[in-house]
Amino acid sequence: MKKKVLVLEDESSIRSFVVLNLERVGYEVVEAETGERALELLQENPDIGVALIDIMLPDIDGFEVCRRIRGNGSKIGIIMLTSRTQEIDRVTGLMTGADDYVTKPFSPTELVARIDALYRRLGDVVAEDPGRLISGPFVLNTRNRTVDKNGVRIKLTQVEYLIMKYFMDNPGRALSRENMLSAVWGEDYYGELKIVDVNIRRLRLKIEDEPTNPRYIQTVWGYGYKWEQ
Ligand code: CA
Repeated sequence: MKKKVLVLEDESSIRSFVVLNLERVGYEVVEAETGERALELLQENPDIGVALIDIMLPDIDGFEVCRRIRGNGSKIGIIMLTSRTQEIDRVTGLMTGADDYVTKPFSPTELVARIDALYRRLGDVVAEDPGRLISGPFVLNTRNRTVDKNGVRIKLTQVEYLIMKYFMDNPGRALSRENMLSAVWGEDYYGELKIVDVNIRRLRLKIEDEPTNPRYIQTVWGYGYKWEQ
């Protein structure tokens, strides 16, 4: 079952950007431009799990929308989208029943991570593995065995995909060539360690901004590699 998210945002450029990025990672999205419309859509779509709510809206403000959702006894997850960082917003939002905040401008990766975290906290979808690993600009999808960087699909071989998964499962840890070889190629693989380096070199060309000055795949001299988030 797809997870359904409501996006309430009157600025169409921001709304489309959010919708596009949520759909790309597999969410089903319902859109609203006004608070009243959002409340209608929530009635019509009881399977919505999380609502993203902008504060500044043309009719009722996001706090009021939040208050009315909670007033109806709804327990859905609510993330406020705010361009203001003042403490008052946080306090007001919490008082009205929001669960989390994302401050504009936000990255799609950050937003998806927050929604995933909220779904996990809500608990009712625990059994449904989101199947995603997120690290910096990268989103790895274990179901399709794909990796996106800033929302753009990177073409990887199966071996490269497995290396990425191994890295993203072990962020910040120095990983030896031997361990990488058995994790990616299998315990019974008796090839040369050199194959690890060859694949890393190719992977860097695909994922790094500057492959000659890698930011994500760091070399640990005389040992192996390390994934930096
Ligand atoms: Ca707005």
